[in-house]
Amino acid sequence: MTNRIANRLVFVGTSDVSGLIRGKSFPDREWEKRARRGVGWTPTNVQITCFDTISESPFGSFGDLVLIPDADTRFVLESGQRMDFALGDIQSLDGDPWAFCTRTLARRALEGLKEVAGVTLLSAFEHEFQIRDQAARSGDAFGFKGFRDGQAWAEAFLDSLEAAGVQPDTFMKEYGPGQYEVTNKPAKGLASADQAAILRMLAHEILPRFGKTPSFAPILDPDSVGNGVHIHFSFLDEAGAPLTYDGNAPDGMSELSRHFVGGVLKYLDQIMAILAPSEVSYLRLTPHRWSAAFNNLGVQDREASVRICPVTAKDADSIARQFNFEVRAADATASPHLALAALVFAGTQGLRDRVVPPEPVNEDLSLLSPAELAENGIKRLPTGLGDALEALGSSEAVRGWFGEEFTDLYIAHKKGEMECLEDLDWASKCARYSEVY
Ligand code: GLU
Ligand code: MG
Repeated sequence: MTNRIANRLVFVGTSDVSGLIRGKSFPDREWEKRARRGVGWTPTNVQITCFDTISESPFGSFGDLVLIPDADTRFVLESGQRMDFALGDIQSLDGDPWAFCTRTLARRALEGLKEVAGVTLLSAFEHEFQIRDQAARSGDAFGFKGFRDGQAWAEAFLDSLEAAGVQPDTFMKEYGPGQYEVTNKPAKGLASADQAAILRMLAHEILPRFGKTPSFAPILDPDSVGNGVHIHFSFLDEAGAPLTYDGNAPDGMSELSRHFVGGVLKYLDQIMAILAPSEVSYLRLTPHRWSAAFNNLGVQDREASVRICPVTAKDADSIARQFNFEVRAADATASPHLALAALVFAGTQGLRDRVVPPEPVNEDLSLLSPAELAENGIKRLPTGLGDALEALGSSEAVRGWFGEEFTDLYIAHKKGEMECLEDLDWASKCARYSEVY
């Protein structure tokens, strides 16, 4: 008997509609062949909900696809139980991109942005999560004790991120009980969504080695804090020069930024079912939770759905590079690829139509009357998943960007997921999501 393992497995995963990673593995000596031919995949898998039920599927038991690993996303973790992992793209047997593959949709959105404006998106997903079953302890908000509690797993987690090509930025004890936040450096194009999917997966891999179970669910307890996914973005030209900032413009927004943000805010209510796609997402998206409840632009307001982020740099070039926007309405029940696709489709539409965003507001919008909101071009975002799906389904724009078939499939997916929660109270709904995410 030797300890040598002859079958070292590589896992190829799709980051699916529910934002989870599903896939298959094969011996690593077959990488070359599998990188060309992939592993077999089934169309109806796209309708597997986060609770593992299968929503109504147009494909039934028919059809075959392949999941092709993307070598650019492959990484190996040597510490602990070895991990060899790659994300993949779903294709037809003839090698055509599959219209329901989340990575394909995000790639298509990014290509559209490049076509319309000649720019590359630079973005980063900022994640909050909580350690499950951790009792609240006074004095812990942003605290040093809580940081020290987490430091050992955090360092291992950050090491794993680096091994996977994600550049860590900051780590901190967030405000809520057992709540932490991790940020990473921005990445170009599709890579930021890939990294978000991988970051969540690695948190679930590493923390349990230290006896901790994380949850990225939008809210674990209806009476407590929410866990957001804030998506930061800026733009680069082909040579890598920043295009987001204009020092002569009000609030520093370049023409490009203004119209892109204008598009995001114009269509935000119609894409909320993608950015915040669970019933419990809407417990988080209520005023005074520092999340987002309206389609507003804010400068130093952590309740704005799109925030112009502060800049600490002092010289012109660094200011132009640091200047970025943050969409605060998303959460980790969203597929990062679909969330990126939705933002980029909406922003690109804003560029095409030269949409101007509402003026930044600096007041508590929850105190304004509907008439006052309307005067400022501001709408309350959908207050439940049902309404958000309604807004998505009746949006000609969304149907144009994602395709009729994908839009209908997505709505059916989510309706099937909602059926799993019928008759549960809010605490039980939160518990179901906190187990999965
Ligand atoms: N926890 C808040 C959210 O749900 C964000 C708090 C903050 O970092 O500003 O988005
Ligand atoms: Mg935070």
